Amino acid sequence: MVRIAVDLNRCQGYAQCAFLAPEIFAMHGEEALLYNPDADEAQREKLAQAAAACPVQAILVDAVDAPAEAVSGAR
Ligand code: SF4
Repeated sequence: MVRIAVDLNRCQGYAQCAFLAPEIFAMHGEEALLYNPDADEAQREKLAQAAAACPVQAILVDAVDAPAEAVSGAR
């Protein structure tokens, strides 16, 4: 299971994520983003691409093996 969080205050509805990982992200209307917060492990690669493609870095992929600094070490 891959936990995902999207900062909807940042999200500008560019739909890059929905384009790259339509199984997880979907646009609802022009601006509202719907997503599955518990994606399948098999979706990890697509998720990483979607997160990287988001113009405002609103997608946080909470990988289980992520180093702690990645979460708490922001300057
Ligand atoms: S790519 Fe980023 S800004 Fe665009 S809809 Fe997805 S989360 Fe929102």
